[in-house]
Amino acid sequence: MRPWSHELWRLGLLAVAGSLAGWLFSAPGLGLAAGLALRLVYHLRQLHALRRWLTRNPHSEPPAATGLWGELFDRLYRYQKGQRHTQHRLQATLKRIQESSEAMRDSVVMLDQHGDLEWWNSAAERMLGLKAAHDRGQHITNLVRDPRFVAYFNARDYREPLTLTSPVNERVVLQFQITLYGDDERLVMARDITRLHRLEEMRRDFVANVSHELRTPLTVLAGYLETYADAADRLPPRLAQGLTRMQEQTTRMQNLVNDLLLLSRLEIDQGGEDHLPLAVPALLEEVRQDAEALSAGRQQVRVEIEEERQLLGSDPEIHSALSNLASNAVRYTPEGSHVVLRWKPHPKGACLEVEDNGEGIDPVHIPRLTERFYRVDKGRSSESGGTGLGLAIVKHVLLRHDAYLEIESPPGNGALFRCVFPDTRLVAAETSLDAASERLPSKRSG
Ligand code: ADP
Repeated sequence: MRPWSHELWRLGLLAVAGSLAGWLFSAPGLGLAAGLALRLVYHLRQLHALRRWLTRNPHSEPPAATGLWGELFDRLYRYQKGQRHTQHRLQATLKRIQESSEAMRDSVVMLDQHGDLEWWNSAAERMLGLKAAHDRGQHITNLVRDPRFVAYFNARDYREPLTLTSPVNERVVLQFQITLYGDDERLVMARDITRLHRLEEMRRDFVANVSHELRTPLTVLAGYLETYADAADRLPPRLAQGLTRMQEQTTRMQNLVNDLLLLSRLEIDQGGEDHLPLAVPALLEEVRQDAEALSAGRQQVRVEIEEERQLLGSDPEIHSALSNLASNAVRYTPEGSHVVLRWKPHPKGACLEVEDNGEGIDPVHIPRLTERFYRVDKGRSSESGGTGLGLAIVKHVLLRHDAYLEIESPPGNGALFRCVFPDTRLVAAETSLDAASERLPSKRSG
């Protein structure tokens, strides 16, 4: 504030001195004007110096000045110095980030708001075939053209990564992950997961092959055991009992092998070839009859239909998923329980529910129930003929139908398994097959 009051004082003094000098010559007005003009000339000179300083080299020392102008020059100089410092720091940070991204083995590609390429590291050149000379400014989907990538990129839902083969080398498997940041810009990261993918493939093939190889010997064993069982009444009771145990265990192993083979098949191919509009009420009726046969009158099983549309899916797969849920409901509920199989509308589309009023499941187990061989009570599961693979099969079938499983179990109040299907999986009863399959996202993007 002091330079400012000095300036006012100075101006006042000049005005008074000018007026007095003018008064001596009988022209005080002229004297006042001359005094003020002197100050105006000084300010104009300083303005000129400021302009020259800013236009020529604002990084150099400011022009020498005192008072108000001195303070202004000083502040401007300090402000500019601060800005320069911040700019250098940001540049250094950006350089460090680019250097560390460069050193990464994963591809990193920075895109602007339009999805055009701004910067990428050398791993991206190797994995995605980007070329520094002419790809900058190109849209990412012009360079990674796989329709699955284009659909994933445009859908803007990047919660799950996308696995694809590299556009430059078919033998390399990449996992893409996109992150939105800043002003709608995107960071695309691609990781080489070829080794992991191969190991996973080997594991799946191994399980499928072993299960397949076990099938024939088990069928032979089961066949002989059945033949011997016909003559069990002629055997001593101890041997007859052993025969029954052997038959039980062979059946268990056959169930296990069948479930393992089914799971492998669900994992290996993408599915979708046998998807047709399914009449859900008829399907639920079949499942109800099987469940009743399994229950042998111990439980009441009924069907409720509240949705008219048909479900676009694979009949054997949906049947298998529902049978698993219904057989669980029968096997894990006490005598006299009720089981309901329901097809009804849902905010996301429609859902198939299997509800029982048994003892339910402790909530701590719910997140892990769909893991292979996860059982709440191992003894009870094996005793009731469970393989520990039922809910894993349900989960995989639903994945192949763009659906998901919800499990609700209020403590002591039964269990509810809900399979939620999106709108794209529903068709009006009279829809033609072609029109129905057009609804599927895979058809649309492919
Ligand atoms: P399992 O062959 O053992 O039945 P699942 O994968 O079908 O294997 O089920 C996993 C576990 O979930 C079962 O062992 C059981 O403890 C529990 N479970 C499944 N359904 C129900 C149900 N309706 N009520 C109570 N527990 C259930």
